[in-house]
Amino acid sequence: MMRFALQARFTLSGDVSGLTKEFEKFIAETNESILKKGPEKLAVIEKYAIEKGTLSLFITSEGTLRPHNALLQIKNALSKDLGKTHHVGVRGITIENYMISFDLAHEPLKEVTIPFAEVKIQGKQATMVLSDVSEEFLRRNYIDRMMNRVKEKVENQYYEGKAEFWKLIWKSKEKPSIWTQDPTEQMESLGWLKQGPTKGKWFYRPQAAAILKTMEHIAIKEVLEPLGFQEVIESHIKPFEIWLKTGHMEGMPYEFYYVAEPKTRDAKDWERFIDLTKITKEVPVEELQKNLSAPTAGICYAQCPMIYWSFKGKTIAETSLPVSVYDKTAISARYESGGRHGIERVDEFHRIEPVYIGTREQLLSLREKLLERYKHVFNDIFDLEWRMAWVTPWYMQQAGKIADEGTQDTGTIDFEAYMPYRGTRQDSEWLEFQNLSILGDKYITAFNIKAQKSVLWSGCSGIGLERWTTAFLAQKGLDPKSWPDGFKKYLQNLPEGIQFL
Ligand code: ATP
Ligand code: ZN
Ligand code: MG
Repeated sequence: MMRFALQARFTLSGDVSGLTKEFEKFIAETNESILKKGPEKLAVIEKYAIEKGTLSLFITSEGTLRPHNALLQIKNALSKDLGKTHHVGVRGITIENYMISFDLAHEPLKEVTIPFAEVKIQGKQATMVLSDVSEEFLRRNYIDRMMNRVKEKVENQYYEGKAEFWKLIWKSKEKPSIWTQDPTEQMESLGWLKQGPTKGKWFYRPQAAAILKTMEHIAIKEVLEPLGFQEVIESHIKPFEIWLKTGHMEGMPYEFYYVAEPKTRDAKDWERFIDLTKITKEVPVEELQKNLSAPTAGICYAQCPMIYWSFKGKTIAETSLPVSVYDKTAISARYESGGRHGIERVDEFHRIEPVYIGTREQLLSLREKLLERYKHVFNDIFDLEWRMAWVTPWYMQQAGKIADEGTQDTGTIDFEAYMPYRGTRQDSEWLEFQNLSILGDKYITAFNIKAQKSVLWSGCSGIGLERWTTAFLAQKGLDPKSWPDGFKKYLQNLPEGIQFL
């Protein structure tokens, strides 16, 4: 059951206190026309009052026609009606009070708040009370989104703390581990890696760089090129409008690195900043803030959003399907905060992201081929102990949902490696070193991508080079002599590196 009660006021262009009769007629007619469909009452003007230059209305409805939508229609009708006969127009609408009650699927476990309204919940009935709302606000469909947000927040309370969906698909044989050290720590003490200069970032000296680059090379030679993927190069800086479309903006605003542009590039405007820097030999942060615009973009979080953006509004030729491309240039930045560890959970990482767009059949078949190539890499080249599992796609996770088992045409597969340094196979957390998703038409619709005839789906796979590296080294150690032959074919000797005194 929904119930809406709206108290609004029209500001009119003239004094209408003399028009009692006309208004009586107008209200009665409106109740019978705009607010009615056949015998069904869509909304009702329960009360009205005129006073000099204003008309106050109290409208209720049970949801078929939302009073705020009715209001906009009434405004038009009133302008037409009184405009013609009495030259009275509507200048503006003020919402004095808007009460919206609706049912929830569950009783909330704790309080719920949202912007723009006071929320009260009794049992499974929620009531939002809004005051001082603009016409623009009504037009923009905020009301429906506010109701959805309240419902979503209550549902999320039920998912919090629930175990994530995880279903094993496949696992390799157990492999004997060569050691039980944390590869990052060991590489650091050997001088292959240097932490910093800022949080969660690393400097890869020649030895570590060679391993990371070998991972990239293997991914391209053994997985992407054999399957016909073509390389693209995207911009590193993502405007918010792209993340708004993919849902990242609402999904993980707390993980982005934001990008701010200078307000001007006129050296004159920066004079004080430069003076202060020269004199104090420190960065004058307050002065800097004055010279920066608010961020409108962020550093790459994942590469797929911008790849989809590049297809925005395009019709793809059937002969180009399935589109299969990858980016290996944009470096991802994520504010991992307390979760940072070694090179496996960092704030800046190197990733290859293949993206595919095609029909359902094309993508299901491509997924099989990708899985086959990935298996070849992890089994025959890395000789890894690893497994695959169905998990909840990120955008469902962010919305507090847990994937159902469904048909598994769409969904996300995580690839996880056993990390001997973390403990036993059973009790330790395995490392997600990459994933693979088919996401249906989510992004296709968001970016309005079309084909001549086919119905399109899309998907992507995140190949984390730091993760490939630590997974491999955690099991196989740092001595190239003990690495599997398949890997030695790609990297037999490490570069000498630099000796420090
Ligand atoms: P996690 O659950 O470990 O945080 P995620 O679900 O956030 O991973 P995705 O957004 O699915 O990761 O990114 C895909 C791939 O990118 C991961 O499988 C991993 O290889 C890599 N990746 C993600 N976050 C990081 C990180 N902080 N450091 C290194 N690699 C990462
Ligand atoms: Zn992606
Ligand atoms: Mg993450």
